[in-house]
Amino acid sequence: MEMQEWRRLAIQSIAFFAVVFVSSLGFSQRIQQQLEVGVRAEDYKESQRQKTVSAQEKKEEPTVATKALVEERSNTYIKIPKKAVPTPAKVYLQNKYMDFQVILTFQGVAPGSIDAGDILRVRGYHVSGGIITKKDPAFRKIEVVDQKKQDDENNSIQLKFTLKKAYEPILFESDEAYYISLLSARKAHDKIVVVDAGHGGMDEGTSSANRKYHEKDIVLAVQEKLSRLLDKADMTVYYTRTKDEKVSKKARTRLANALQADLFVSIHCNALQGGVNTFGVETLYAGKNPEYGKLANRELADVILEQVAVSADMKKRGTIKRNGLYLLRHAKVPATIVEIGYMTNQSDMSLLKKEIGQQKIAEGIYQGIVNAMEKGAKGEKNS
Ligand SMILES: [Zn+2]
Repeated sequence: MEMQEWRRLAIQSIAFFAVVFVSSLGFSQRIQQQLEVGVRAEDYKESQRQKTVSAQEKKEEPTVATKALVEERSNTYIKIPKKAVPTPAKVYLQNKYMDFQVILTFQGVAPGSIDAGDILRVRGYHVSGGIITKKDPAFRKIEVVDQKKQDDENNSIQLKFTLKKAYEPILFESDEAYYISLLSARKAHDKIVVVDAGHGGMDEGTSSANRKYHEKDIVLAVQEKLSRLLDKADMTVYYTRTKDEKVSKKARTRLANALQADLFVSIHCNALQGGVNTFGVETLYAGKNPEYGKLANRELADVILEQVAVSADMKKRGTIKRNGLYLLRHAKVPATIVEIGYMTNQSDMSLLKKEIGQQKIAEGIYQGIVNAMEKGAKGEKNS
């Protein structure tokens, strides 16, 4: 089966070159066009390098490329021959990185019209289809989900690929097929930061004394301001949540670890019942040495504390060793939790609830991240 598949691919590529050769005789303009397409894909690749990965809802449309370009980016990819798919009205890819899922949607195609058996998984010279074994290095599961709507135009089929690692997928298409290039995130990006807005959804976190403000909303507001700063920075940033939704602690650390991120910064607010006079910023860290990354946890915690205190003019309460906290215990990358103030204290609260206060805190975290990345780049790890 595999041998046959390989032979078929070989014949296909010979046929492809033959077509290119023949068309080059009569249609040099077409070749020119193909070259331009190739250059465009290269540019695209470059622009992806330091892209900020923000919304998992973002719909990426295919980029035109040759099979050779797809292979040049990564030897691991998915191939869906066009002859196996009715012509769709729209095709797009979503990177649900929190679930290690890549979802390809064919809009405007009839339910039942895509056969899972036609989806090929390529890894170097190894091409397979059908059942995924436990030993498969990249894939866990492939599902074909029909979405039947009232009017046929909005019918769609989703191909859901559940992967074993964190990849940076790109959707390509040629005349012959759709390709989903799977390059490990660590190979795709030089600098990777994971920003984690604590709590969310049913988990509101702590709240102000009057119960009017909740931690989950404040940390998300600070993150939104932080993300605008990080968008312009030369680094790739993944967010564990970008809206009011519940995300497990396990999923948060799993992402940071799978990405082998350079930094993992989790944003929280503090509270002390009966401690109305307790205020200021603190950062938490675990005493162990991270498996990945070039910074000690303590160094990251120090630099974030310093910058938030300066930027927001807050009391510096210190960096506190907390080996037992889930996030810090399970993170294998340099990690810190920044407690951006006490919601039970009035002066901290007046900062936390206002846009200007949130902006200053965000600027402090941003500068801390930038400084920590520079420190890491110099390889100042205490190990
Ligand atoms: Zn919290």
